Amino acid sequence: MKSTVRTFAVTCITGLTLLQSSCDDANADAKEEIKVEKEAPAQPKKPVIKTDEEWKKILTPEQYEILRKHGTERPWGKVYEEFKKQGAGTYYCAGCDAELFTSKEKFDARCGWPAFFDSSKHENVKTLRDTSFGTVRIEVRCNVCDGHLGHVFSGEGFDTPTDQRYCINAKVLKFVPFAEAGKKDPKKEDK
Ligand SMILES: [Zn+2]
Repeated sequence: MKSTVRTFAVTCITGLTLLQSSCDDANADAKEEIKVEKEAPAQPKKPVIKTDEEWKKILTPEQYEILRKHGTERPWGKVYEEFKKQGAGTYYCAGCDAELFTSKEKFDARCGWPAFFDSSKHENVKTLRDTSFGTVRIEVRCNVCDGHLGHVFSGEGFDTPTDQRYCINAKVLKFVPFAEAGKKDPKKEDK
């Protein structure tokens, strides 16, 4: 009996927390766009170069701010919550469609932004020293369109093959599930 009561209490508290956070998200993120593409995009030829005006036509204002102006989305946003629920698939650059990461490199760093321990196409991702805000960080950019994606941190103690955390803005990733793209999901294949 005791354990039933305790389970119920925990469920209530968790439920309230979820309800509260989903209300907050609904207000703050009402205009956020969730990008789930149906087909794997054709891969671009490097480099993809556009004027600011051209970028503004194909990107949402927030994507433009992140990719072209080195912006950062707020953590724990609605798009990030969707990201956490996404299954096996590939993540492409919202600016130029270049493949960047897959679900195989994804892990839960509990930091409020998408985290990967490596890129899936090393030639499409580059890093640069970033000394803004008085600190030294390693910036991550798309190597095809030069769009800012986020930062990479090393040696934080994560139990992953690289112990690196590619901390990437959720809004600049396009997700295509493996199933939609005609690729096999390695996890499901075993079953
Ligand atoms: Zn790109």
